[in-house]
Amino acid sequence: MRRTALLFLSLLISVATAQLADGDIRGFVLDLAEGIGIRAAGTAGERAAADYLEQRFREFGYQTELQPFPFTYFQDLGSAYQVGQGPEVNASTLGFSPPAELSAPLVFANLGRIQDLRGREVQGRIVLLRRGEIPFLEKAQNAARAGAVAIMVFNNRPGGFDGTYGQPGPLPGLALSRSEGEDLLDRLQAGEVLQATLSINTTLEERTSQNVIARWPTGTAHLVVGGHYDSVAQGPGANDNASGTAVVLALAQAFAGTPVAEQTIFVAFGAEEEGLLGSQAFVSALPGGEPGDITAMIDIDQIAVGNTLFVGGTPSLVNLTREVFGNHEGMQYLTELRAASDHVPFQNAGIPVLVLNRQSDPNNHTALDTVIEPGTLSLAAELVAAVLRELAGEGNTVEL
Ligand SMILES: [Zn+2]
Repeated sequence: MRRTALLFLSLLISVATAQLADGDIRGFVLDLAEGIGIRAAGTAGERAAADYLEQRFREFGYQTELQPFPFTYFQDLGSAYQVGQGPEVNASTLGFSPPAELSAPLVFANLGRIQDLRGREVQGRIVLLRRGEIPFLEKAQNAARAGAVAIMVFNNRPGGFDGTYGQPGPLPGLALSRSEGEDLLDRLQAGEVLQATLSINTTLEERTSQNVIARWPTGTAHLVVGGHYDSVAQGPGANDNASGTAVVLALAQAFAGTPVAEQTIFVAFGAEEEGLLGSQAFVSALPGGEPGDITAMIDIDQIAVGNTLFVGGTPSLVNLTREVFGNHEGMQYLTELRAASDHVPFQNAGIPVLVLNRQSDPNNHTALDTVIEPGTLSLAAELVAAVLRELAGEGNTVEL
């Protein structure tokens, strides 16, 4: 290639990557994590973030679509129990427990297996159970079939615990520490009759989340680049995953009007923290649930805190990435996938995936997830940009 052509090309590329500077991408993170804050699925915060993202994509020239999907929203608003005239004790609620205010006699039924409940007086009672052996949901189902009105599960290790039914449970449920549970068990076994009063405050209802999908008005897209924009309810999710969402936005901005934009669908997924629901909804909405025209999916999740950027996925895509981007300080290619994230439904549909992720953020899923380490955003953005150019047939002849 002639020198002038090379110069022209590198000018073009530098225009395309002007917005991939760390500081520019950080602005999107701040808008999401500070400006909007907590973006838990199905909340006003998540919806505000969806509107914000749609607005940005439109400003960059993309056509947008909000793809809604229903899910079961659960929130623990704080629960407590009281035994007899004893003090009211705060307790951890089992996830997906229905709300309840009730009072009933307590009965012990070991692990809550069918054989543990058989022959016991359970009807209309609250069942005290040990943790372990079978899932919480199964304990609750067995107790419900035996006529119980609630369960209290105590830990099989010292201290309290967080447990969940994983789906709407048939009975209200509390999680107790081992010492709390053993104390109640001792009293029952000593022949005391214990009346327990439960106050379980939860919200359990059907709500809607949504993906934000951006396509360039012309061209045929066959690549998907995405990251989830929802956070957990406990914190603003700067690293998890305003960071990945911001990189998706920055790439859409940088490539607007180019062949890469024409070949790429940029997606911000909702409700990842509830179990990859947005990415599952996206894949389910593909014609016939088949990969169709989609040849690759790149997932960017939690890339702003931690010493190493891990790049894993389908071996062919990992190898291609290594060829076009090479090895940089503070990154590592993986042949296996460690993180469960939005790439999974795509991978299950047979679509090659590439996943960018950092691990061991001490503030993950807490109110302190506000940190973005310098240089992390641009590293992820430049890597994905190089891969997109290659996959879009643009080649990658110019060093970034
Ligand atoms: Zn995440």
